[in-house]
Amino acid sequence: MAVTTGGGAGETPAILEALRRHFGHTAFREGQEEVVRRILAGEELCVVMPTGAGKSLCYQLPAMMRPGYTLVISPLIALMKDQVDALNAHGLPAACLNSAVTPPQQTAAMRAAADGQLKFLYLAPERFRSAQFNDFLEQHHPALVVVDEAHCISQWGHDFRPDYQRIWQGTPVLRQLQVCAFTATATPHVRDDIREQLGRPGMEDIVTGFRRPNLRFSVLSCRGRQDKLDVVETLLAKRVPTLIYCSTRKETEQLAGQLGLRMYHAGMAEAARRQAQDYFVSDTCPTLVATNAFGMGIDRADVRQVIHFNVPGSLEAYYQEAGRAGRDGLPADCVLIDSYTDVRIQEYLMDVNNPPFEVVAAVLDQLRRDCRADGSCLWWPEAAYEELGERAKCAAQVGTAMRILERQGLLQRAFTHVAGPLGSLRLLAPLAQVEADHAAQRTQRDIFLYRLARWLQTCGEHSFQGSIFDLSRCTGFSVEQLNRLLDALQDKALRWHCDVPDGVLLLSPQARDGSAAPDRDWLEKKRQLDRRRLDSVRGYCRAEGCRQLHIMRYFGERVGSWRCGVCDQCGQRTAGGRELTPDERRWCRSILLALQVVDGRFGRRRFAGLLLGAEDNSPDITGHPQHGCLATVGKDKADELLQALEAAGLIAVTDGDYPCLELTGAGHAALRDEAALAEVRLFSRPDGHAKAATPRRGRAGACHPRGRR
Ligand code: ADP
Ligand code: MG
Repeated sequence: MAVTTGGGAGETPAILEALRRHFGHTAFREGQEEVVRRILAGEELCVVMPTGAGKSLCYQLPAMMRPGYTLVISPLIALMKDQVDALNAHGLPAACLNSAVTPPQQTAAMRAAADGQLKFLYLAPERFRSAQFNDFLEQHHPALVVVDEAHCISQWGHDFRPDYQRIWQGTPVLRQLQVCAFTATATPHVRDDIREQLGRPGMEDIVTGFRRPNLRFSVLSCRGRQDKLDVVETLLAKRVPTLIYCSTRKETEQLAGQLGLRMYHAGMAEAARRQAQDYFVSDTCPTLVATNAFGMGIDRADVRQVIHFNVPGSLEAYYQEAGRAGRDGLPADCVLIDSYTDVRIQEYLMDVNNPPFEVVAAVLDQLRRDCRADGSCLWWPEAAYEELGERAKCAAQVGTAMRILERQGLLQRAFTHVAGPLGSLRLLAPLAQVEADHAAQRTQRDIFLYRLARWLQTCGEHSFQGSIFDLSRCTGFSVEQLNRLLDALQDKALRWHCDVPDGVLLLSPQARDGSAAPDRDWLEKKRQLDRRRLDSVRGYCRAEGCRQLHIMRYFGERVGSWRCGVCDQCGQRTAGGRELTPDERRWCRSILLALQVVDGRFGRRRFAGLLLGAEDNSPDITGHPQHGCLATVGKDKADELLQALEAAGLIAVTDGDYPCLELTGAGHAALRDEAALAEVRLFSRPDGHAKAATPRRGRAGACHPRGRR
């Protein structure tokens, strides 16, 4: 796909040549070239691209084109070596600093970086705790600092790492260097937080590569459960590979039972899950009902339909799940079933997850009273939750309140204290075999076992010794995820042993003596963010324009007035109205021809002036072959035609400070074959030069079932 670029066109050959020489690629993928140019120009960017889109190249290429070395901070220690190996395989000097590397090797790597022999130094955030490393950094500044998986720095991200955040507080030299952040998490508030945590308010976003033109999005509003079932049955009549997402395990079981379909959720036995997965991957036309636990790493490219039986909790989650349709690039449908009951459930969950300040304070108060007289520790059996809930009068919210207190540093589970109790973990099969068996990385378990085996091999160890937090750092899974994984895999694939029982709580000294209280602002901000997340889904359901454009805009991808042309809303816009008269066809053709010459350089007003024959001393206008081609037609008609062409997706407006008109792919096609002009609909009477009609909007909100056949 063509990419608009920021720099002068003259540099392209040099960049392309470097791309070929260093990496052996012949072309850039979408968005890469712009990022490379802007990094070369010294800009600080927050780059958001989907997983697999090619983020690494965006910083590796500029690094190769400039003197000095690049520091890459990444929380995924287990895969660091793979990255370094990949670079070395291209003959690009790279090394990593982590606990699998011996101290002499580390010193050698730092010396090589200082001497200009190394281009990339990969490291984990913990490295910044080392005084030796900080001294090194003071003396030998990297040319660029890359923060990979940057969402981990945000406390609103799904994978927050306090270590990541601390780097920026404790290492002043980083403030003077060029820093770029990379992530696949596209929510705007996470990006804002990344900027804030990095102390770089001016860091610009580049969001790119999320567009999926082959996906047809639609929303169907239903009244009750029976209505929803009817819709699903109609959709299933198509008999194509289909995935149906439900928001809970219970709903998944119920729906699968009612429709006689197979299912998948995280509560099922290992064997049943594997069967469901195999069925979905290998059957010629499978239909599977699942929770969001299904999907990560599923390599089936021809899923033709993803149906959401319940309204999802965020637009980002929705797009990720729906995006599993049509990976082969062929048309596929993404249908969201909207119902009032679901929205109410989501609102309820939001309330539970966001206890008011008073509840959090009451839980803290209760804990303080329960705290043993000798001060520090409280042994906390699971059952006591309920009792605490009753005493603090907030049964449903105790767990959440405790998590909040923990996040705010008022409460610690004892094993988070200092290094935590050490556990040991041994894989039951030989490492090489575990690696080979799980290399496809289809499920979370596969990914975990694969990373663990890789990591142990990298270290040359047979077993892992450390706390669950060390394990989290090495594998990239959160402690919650690890607890689940270790439970499920215990005695089947591994043996994990840790002496200290779970559930030891420790109040911070300030919480104990009453000098610290829960942070009211933090609670308020979290509630607002959760609210916004939920509203984003509501907004999508009610969107009046193109569904996909709505999502792109929410993510912050600059797509101008691009629209997919195939979602339920786009389809509705071109329905109705009338066809063009022969005269109108001729005028539309003139407009497209005129735009072809000044593509992407004129704004709406200036372009309309050109068509109407405006007197302008710029040769761009007066010398233009189509100058004045609509002069006899008049301004209203010209506006009407421009609007209709835009509504039909033949022309679009670019984003940016100076929005300009451009021909879309469909517009170029219409110049070659006029049949495409049939898509252009007008709402005025064919005879009169009636007042320009605005393109018809989607019917009032999303309150009617749509597109049901
Ligand atoms: P991300 O970090 O965005 O998830 P990676 O940087 O790991 O993705 O890249 C994914 C794959 O795409 C890698 O195998 C990489 O070699 C490949 N790749 C990246 N850019 C290009 C390109 N311009 N042409 C061909 N392959 C590319
Ligand atoms: Mg990456």
